[in-house]
Amino acid sequence: MKICITLLFALLVSSFSFGQNQLCGTEMPQETLDWLKQIQQNPPPVKDARSGLLYVPIKFHIIGDDTGGQYYKKETLFAVLCELNDQFAASNFYFYKSGNINYIKNSNYYVGIGGSIMINTYNIEGHVNAYITGPIPGLCGYFTGGPKKGAVVLIKGCLGKGNSTFAHELGHYFSLPHTFNGWQSNPEFVNGSNCTTAGDFFCDTPADYLDYRWSCPYTGSKTDTLGDTIKPDHTLFMSYASDVCCTRFSGEQQTVMNINLTTTRNYLLNFSDPAMDPMGTSNLLKPIDGLSNIPVNQIILEWDPVTGAEEYHLVVKKQPNMVIIDVVTSNTKYYTSASGLLVGYTYEWKVKPMNAGNTCEDYSPEWTFIPGFASAIDDAVEDNSLFIYPNPVSSGQDLIVLINSYDFDNDATFQLYDVNGQVVMNQQVHFNQGENNVDLPELYAGVYFVRLYTDDKTYYKRIMILND
Ligand SMILES: [Zn+2]
Repeated sequence: MKICITLLFALLVSSFSFGQNQLCGTEMPQETLDWLKQIQQNPPPVKDARSGLLYVPIKFHIIGDDTGGQYYKKETLFAVLCELNDQFAASNFYFYKSGNINYIKNSNYYVGIGGSIMINTYNIEGHVNAYITGPIPGLCGYFTGGPKKGAVVLIKGCLGKGNSTFAHELGHYFSLPHTFNGWQSNPEFVNGSNCTTAGDFFCDTPADYLDYRWSCPYTGSKTDTLGDTIKPDHTLFMSYASDVCCTRFSGEQQTVMNINLTTTRNYLLNFSDPAMDPMGTSNLLKPIDGLSNIPVNQIILEWDPVTGAEEYHLVVKKQPNMVIIDVVTSNTKYYTSASGLLVGYTYEWKVKPMNAGNTCEDYSPEWTFIPGFASAIDDAVEDNSLFIYPNPVSSGQDLIVLINSYDFDNDATFQLYDVNGQVVMNQQVHFNQGENNVDLPELYAGVYFVRLYTDDKTYYKRIMILND
């Protein structure tokens, strides 16, 4: 019981701190309202068109500032997506992340300037396009009908576990107005006698005149013109009740969303069903938990493959809670050397398996490691398939990379580090078997490390750079 109360309190606090004065910025397109009104008065013969789960692809766009800072964290996004599917379970909608997340660096978009240009520029056809931005004063999110079939925009402070903003905006996307729609111009009577032609046009959502955030249950005394006191339903996502109160769409709302998806928005249903098998958790392999003094240029995180996983989410945090690496990869190892890890700090890392339809598995237990100073690692791959010369080499001179391997994949990444693990050169290269030239930048004299890697191979070499 104590846990319940604590949890409830936490939810209330978060809902008030984010949501109390932050509203939805949606203006429902008039043509959508006309469509809805017509559907509600003349329901199609087969009103409930659903059969089985309806898989809806979402293209996520995460907005950061111009420097690529402030991005919404993937871990939260994946948890929110799982919760969203719980919220839509009764509707038989199933949303999934389609393809990679699109990251956009733009300080204007981040604060809500130029939203329609953003949507026009980045919308991907055949998807619900969802944009996650930084704070926009007074707003939690909005749906817009255009351009390019519209989008939902979600403010990151209103998008977390226990929030209803995402479900609410998707409700708009699939044609639902607010439950208080028309309360001033065309109000619904409490007795429901005009429910298909007034208010939100639904008969199983009671008259609601509350166009401000309210905590549930409603204890006020607003009346309709017949003198009946309103009894708004705080459980409905399309109301402005506090997030913690909202848990559902009404039956008629579900049916209309279903009709909308299978007619007006049936372009969303052109993909094959996503993989959504359960997968369990990942086992971490290397570096073993708690290992310290690992040369900072040699840290490769590795975990076991998981049956059914199409990709993995890797999170590396610098203690206590700063996310340094936040990547989704189809590999089961990750080279950290370009990630700016610092010598002597403790890092925690964890992994979870995912497939397109399932981002809901648990993360592995967290392991830790502590980087030490960079060191020579010529022994890592000592198979004579690669030589680098001259060595020592003068700063600014060309370096020759001689490749003897017949199966060398031509596209590779060439990186150069100093002894502190700082990347001083990072370049995509196209190497062939034989001699390949690399134009070195001007560098201080000293020991450096070359790492050349392809999808399936990594070569390390130590070189000495001299100043003339
Ligand atoms: Zn709204």
